[in-house]
Amino acid sequence: MAIKEIIEALKSKDLRDLGLKENLAQLVKDIKLLGKELDILLYLPRPGLEDVLKSKVEDALAQMSYVEKVNVKFSGSPPQGIGQSVAQPTFAKRKVPGVKYLIAIGSGKGGVGKSTVSANLAVTLANLGYKVGLLDADVYGPSIPTILGLKGERVSLNERNKLIPLERFGVKVLSIGFMLPSEDTPVIWRGPMLMKALTQFLFDVEWEDLDFLILDLPPGTGDVQLTLAQNTEVTGALVVTTPQDVALADVRKTTVMFREVGIPLLGVIENMAYFICPDSGKKYFIFGKGKTAEFATAYGIKVLGSIPIDPDVSERSDKGEPITAFVPDSPVSKAFRSIGELLIQEIIAGGKAHV
Ligand code: ADP
Repeated sequence: MAIKEIIEALKSKDLRDLGLKENLAQLVKDIKLLGKELDILLYLPRPGLEDVLKSKVEDALAQMSYVEKVNVKFSGSPPQGIGQSVAQPTFAKRKVPGVKYLIAIGSGKGGVGKSTVSANLAVTLANLGYKVGLLDADVYGPSIPTILGLKGERVSLNERNKLIPLERFGVKVLSIGFMLPSEDTPVIWRGPMLMKALTQFLFDVEWEDLDFLILDLPPGTGDVQLTLAQNTEVTGALVVTTPQDVALADVRKTTVMFREVGIPLLGVIENMAYFICPDSGKKYFIFGKGKTAEFATAYGIKVLGSIPIDPDVSERSDKGEPITAFVPDSPVSKAFRSIGELLIQEIIAGGKAHV
């Protein structure tokens, strides 16, 4: 964890040469890593120490490849607990304006159906009568425009310089794919640029009043996930996995990441759980049965639902016709409806207010 390592590095700098008994970490009032740019707010024990403290911070972090730029600011009031224990940085998390519940959707690996689940869950919640937005932050493979039939679309800005999301199946949609010159353009943005774009995608958007904003994250535990988690008020996270061992091994890491950054886990969604034979109606557990439940029990999270594997899902996704909008009575759509209802219960049970 980047911030933990930064704090450790600051801890190792004592300030005895300045006549102070604290180490550098104990002066930290606030700390925020945005891409590779670090903002630190330090307590200034006495005037005149600004330059020397600044260079001590730079010195402590010189070896850290994920910090390219450090901005040090000072404050005259001490952090709580100074002189006793290392200051616990309070991350100044921002709430996305106009959004009641921000739900992040993560996965361990690519290809497990995270974007398919994000899109169909958004459509399902809209069908249940909620105001829903969907933000495709999967910068390495934005597939939401294809799944929702918005390929090639572009977004525009309103007179207040805010992005106006597109609307489809009752869902407000924004995707990094709407910003790329063509579908085949690889996203080779580096950390800080990427984070700037994503921050704009969350905060400089005319989301208006939304009950839910579904955030389709890139797979894994990279910079995007961590930075968003540290800077944004997220109601909770869902993790999507398929029941194979390889997928479950990676989703464990993603689950631990959400835990470490203090985002409540609302549940796991098991995708491609089984195949229903169209002739006999019999269920075949192609990738194995019971492993997702085992993982969920071990990590103390709920399985919110299991979605069958159905060729109609992928065929319709490729055509921009999400199954939940076009075949509401299919077993897949019913599974999504049940997941949507359980998600709402989880939010209420977690004391996250009322929907
Ligand atoms: P990710 O976002 O995890 O990379 P996608 O949502 O792009 O994964 O899904 C990967 C592929 O699997 C897509 O072709 C998608 O249509 C297909 N797919 C996802 N879920 C299902 C399902 N339940 N049944 C059949 N195909 C599915």
